[in-house]
Amino acid sequence: MNKSLLYRFIKEAEDKRVAIGHFNFSDIATVKGIMGAAQDISRVFHFNVPICLGTSEGEAGYMGFYFASAVANQYKLGGRPVFLNGDHIRSLEKLKEIVECGYDSVSFDATHLPFEQNIELTREAVLLAKSINPNFIIEGEINHIGGSSKLLENTNEEVTMATSALTTPEDAKKFVDSTGVDLIAPAVGNIHGIFTNSPNPRIDTARVRAIKKITPAPIVLHGGSGLRDEDFMQAIYAGVSVIHINTEIRIAWRRGLEHSLASDKNEVAPYKLLAISEKAAQNVVFERLKLFNKLV
Ligand SMILES: [Zn+2]
Repeated sequence: MNKSLLYRFIKEAEDKRVAIGHFNFSDIATVKGIMGAAQDISRVFHFNVPICLGTSEGEAGYMGFYFASAVANQYKLGGRPVFLNGDHIRSLEKLKEIVECGYDSVSFDATHLPFEQNIELTREAVLLAKSINPNFIIEGEINHIGGSSKLLENTNEEVTMATSALTTPEDAKKFVDSTGVDLIAPAVGNIHGIFTNSPNPRIDTARVRAIKKITPAPIVLHGGSGLRDEDFMQAIYAGVSVIHINTEIRIAWRRGLEHSLASDKNEVAPYKLLAISEKAAQNVVFERLKLFNKLV
């Protein structure tokens, strides 16, 4: 039985039919915005909301794993429930680095491989990470979730994911049983990024429910940005316990910076120019935390 604090928070979210928010960062303005939103939730709702901070290989490549870990540790002071996740880590080498740097969890991504090889590599990842830190939490990914965390062009009116690309409950069960992962991230109609000229695809909530029924591993939803509020609520009700948000924060960051640059052409202090980006990220995360935790 895994006794890590993060896992207990996820199981608690599962029981309460709420979801923990996972938010990516690659600079100080963004992480200050994310943690500012968590403080706002504490102040307004008297609830010390758990937060997952995430860094992809690209984001951590910019900051360094040790730097990201030091930033997360700073926010953990005083017992705040903050966790750091390596998002879409694809190799055992990188996995070893993040476990040793003090990350709490990983979204290990071997979905570029065929199913059986994904199982093999993910099983190795579980053994490796737990041999270094038995309380480290491993999420395995099954079936490729497309897109990229940015604005996407789409020429179709309404996008739906091909059913053949989605995770079947049987594959989900086999994957969890064979690898020993703590969490599973299935493909259930979700995509990374936000379409600029049409809504994002709907989540196949019946599929989420069927996967939930057949496997004990809590479910993580990637590509939350761009989904409608009712899609989030239905996905959580169907069994999603962690939701990843990245693109929405990046868009807010960019718009904030554009506004700063346009409003004062002589300002050159980065911390002053990025103040609006921080506030914009904070607003996005505050609204998502409210929704995911069913706070009104
Ligand atoms: Zn993702």
